[in-house]
Parts: sequence; structure tokens; C-alpha cells
Amino acid sequence: MDNDCLFCRIAAGEIPAAVVHETDTTLAFRDIDPKAPVHVLVIPKAHHPDVAAIATADPKAAADLLAAVAAVAEAEGLLADGYRLIFNSGVNGGQEVFHVHAHVVGGKPLGPMVA
Ligand code: 5GP
Repeated sequence: MDNDCLFCRIAAGEIPAAVVHETDTTLAFRDIDPKAPVHVLVIPKAHHPDVAAIATADPKAAADLLAAVAAVAEAEGLLADGYRLIFNSGVNGGQEVFHVHAHVVGGKPLGPMVA
């Protein structure tokens, strides 16, 4: 755990969050500033800075993260109409919290992806 990392502290229960799904290795909670009717962040409990880092360091943890994404999408009722899955990566990708997280966004038509 990185004590300076916001999402490590949420994973440790030190900072409250609206948790919607939890496994031994992952936690999913609602984004504090939702961009759609459903906006859930899915994180590994272990600290990895971004998606490339987790894929390289611990492929099992990366697979666990994707399995948790799928479970959240089902639980949030997103499978029938679809949803968007986003990993912002690095400064140019708009990443603000450097603990890898998947944004699961849906509940309305999102339109085409824009850069
Ligand atoms: P990023 O830009 O790093 O991909 O996304 C970070 C996300 O974390 C943003 O969508 C932001 O709203 C969310 N966020 C920032 N601080 C908090 C917090 O304390 N709690 C929750 N639940 N979400 C947060």
C-alpha cells in the first residue's frame, strides 16, 4: 500500500467510498463526479500505477480486474444496452489518479468516442 495514494486508501477503508462490488483482489465504487447515470471505478487492491504496469507486473491481477469489470457491468444492468470501458493512461490520457482504475460508464447512449 502507498499511503500517498488515494485509491490505496479507499481500498484500505481509510477513505469512504460507495462500494458496489468487492473481491479478494479488487474493489469497485461509484465515481465521486459521475459523467453518466452509471459511473463506477474498478481498481485492484494492490497498487499498480497504470494499465501497462499491472499487465506487465501481475497478469493475474489484470485478469481479476477485467472479471470485476464484467461483474459490475452485469450488476449495474449494463449488458443489454452496452457501456464504455475506459483506462485513462498517463498525462496525455488524462489520468489524474496514478493507481490503475477502469471507468465503467453507461446508463445512457454515449455517442461516438471523441479524443
Ligand atoms: P482519472 O482521470 O485518473 O482516469 O480518473 C480519476 C477519477 O477518480 C475521476 O473520475 C474522479 O472523479 C474520481 N475521483 C477522484 N477522487 C475521488 C474520490 O475521493 N472518491 C471517488 N469515489 N472518486 C474519486
